[in-house]
Amino acid sequence: MKNIILIAAPSAGKGTEAAKLKEQYNMPHISTGDLLRAARDENPVIAEYQDKGMLVPFDIVLGLLKDRITQSDCNNGYILDGFPRDLKQAEAYDEILKETGKDIGIVIVLDVDKDIAASRIAGRWSCPKCGKIYNVDNKDMKPKVDGKCDDCNSDLMHRDDDNKEVYEERYNSYLKNTEPLIDFYNKKGILYHVDSSVTPEYTHEQVVKILGE
Ligand code: AMP
Repeated sequence: MKNIILIAAPSAGKGTEAAKLKEQYNMPHISTGDLLRAARDENPVIAEYQDKGMLVPFDIVLGLLKDRITQSDCNNGYILDGFPRDLKQAEAYDEILKETGKDIGIVIVLDVDKDIAASRIAGRWSCPKCGKIYNVDNKDMKPKVDGKCDDCNSDLMHRDDDNKEVYEERYNSYLKNTEPLIDFYNKKGILYHVDSSVTPEYTHEQVVKILGE
């Protein structure tokens, strides 16, 4: 399977779609947000940036990313969720691909209006262990047992940065830093758009169709 990069505004559905892809194609879902959250205790600098919705320094992110994609479970393709986040990371990623002999694969942009994306954050809960995302405000995305992950039974958590103020900062960071990547990857001829404003199922249907082309 091709490597897949998902690009989208915060809470537009990257994590949810990545989990569906992971389940269907048995590919690792690599969320740099999750990698960074897991590394916060050993590197307190991460929390300073994450809690404000700002991009964590380049070297920290690149180190974690490179370690992860060179693990053997990534040999047959992986899904990137939240990376690259700006042009500097995208260019560094091109270099890592060259060094490791990996292919860039395809880039899928999940399109959704800011208001719809922002309305999803209040009810969002996620599993710190397997990364599965729930939304208690959406009957199709609630966990079966309140507060517990359906797949691994871990306690679900509500992210500290899923609040209105930090959302604004994360969204502005998306516009300024990440959106320029759409043009960068479009020029490489590997970019696709899907409508992520309807339901997770509809988003996934469109992505599967692109993968089958
Ligand atoms: P996410 O889980 O993708 O919404 O990311 C949550 C937060 O983690 C972001 O607001 C950033 O502070 C940090 N983060 C995640 N991915 C990256 C990245 N590729 N580069 C820098 N910071 C990141």
